[in-house]
Amino acid sequence: MSIATKLKIHNFSAGPCILPQEVLQKAAESIVEYDGTGLSIIEMSHRSKPFEAVMANAQQLVKELLGAPDNYQVVFLGGGASLGFHMVPLNYMRSGGKAAYANTGEWATRAVKESALVGETLVVASSEDKNFSYIPKGFEIPGDADYFHFTSNNTIFGTQYKQFPKSPVPLICDMSSDIFSRPMNVSDFALIYGGAQKNMGPAGATVYLMDPDQLGKTGRKLSPVLDLKNHASKDSMYNTPPVYAVYVSMLTMEWMKKIGGVKEIEKRNAAKAKLLYDAVDSLPLFKGTTAVEDRSVMNPTFVMTDAALEPAFDAMWKEAGVSGIRGHRSVGGYRASMYNALPLESVQVLVDVMNEFAKKNG
Ligand SMILES: *Cc1c(COP(=O)(O)O)cnc(C)c1O
Repeated sequence: MSIATKLKIHNFSAGPCILPQEVLQKAAESIVEYDGTGLSIIEMSHRSKPFEAVMANAQQLVKELLGAPDNYQVVFLGGGASLGFHMVPLNYMRSGGKAAYANTGEWATRAVKESALVGETLVVASSEDKNFSYIPKGFEIPGDADYFHFTSNNTIFGTQYKQFPKSPVPLICDMSSDIFSRPMNVSDFALIYGGAQKNMGPAGATVYLMDPDQLGKTGRKLSPVLDLKNHASKDSMYNTPPVYAVYVSMLTMEWMKKIGGVKEIEKRNAAKAKLLYDAVDSLPLFKGTTAVEDRSVMNPTFVMTDAALEPAFDAMWKEAGVSGIRGHRSVGGYRASMYNALPLESVQVLVDVMNEFAKKNG
């Protein structure tokens, strides 16, 4: 069976989303038999030598791709970034302490709510006043907060921090939808976390990249399952890790490394974003939904200036093999998610459709 022969779909899904073809091919083979072991990757012990090597390689690749300091630790847990929203205050807010948050969209709002279940939670910046269409700037982070939490890329609303906030307190980021999309300075962060299913791999694993010096300071008694320090000290093997999601994430990270790492990926993503946003800006039929300077490279959002034309436009892009560009129900219009594995050619197909549609209807 060859995956390479599958129908050509231009996959703009917001997540789970496109993965590289060669990763899917290898992942499929390893389901049947992993690396000459006679066993499937999903039927061997997570404490076997082959899987221990997979875990070690996946952890190392996270650090290598992002240029993390040597002492930082990586764990892969279940529960999605959504469980992360609750793990963050449990593991970083002191008993009786408080946390500061920026609220820039649906996921940030959920993170705020989960933190408020644990303790005092200050929203020090928000873009809710304009339906989360921009990134707040120039806000102040109180020096007595236990940490500051933000969402680097707002998957649903299509905004993205171009510069990370400077924080007087430990910085924590939900990077679910733009991790591995650009070079960054990991040592500025106490914790970076994210669900795998956007830029890293299949759903089922959540990555936590942590400064170990910032763990275990809350004075709160935690179940070992919820304790990041415990998971780190057990090297992500306290309980059975999501083995297949970790394995396919490892393959995807190997692919990222092979094509030139996050520097090269940043270049490719910039080219894809320019191609799409140029079409949105130059064609009067289309209009971006966010502040131009805060536009997401991963999840461009746009609407049609004449909504009555949507059905005809929809028929045309579907005919061209484009998939998954209907916007989230809270924004409407369109969202063309362009994660790392999406080739420029797919964006070109969408842009060609937009141009052709504009010619016929402009
Ligand atoms: C998708 C997404 C989430 C939710 O992740 P789950 O793994 O479904 O819990 C959280 N934050 C951001 C920024 C996302 O894009």
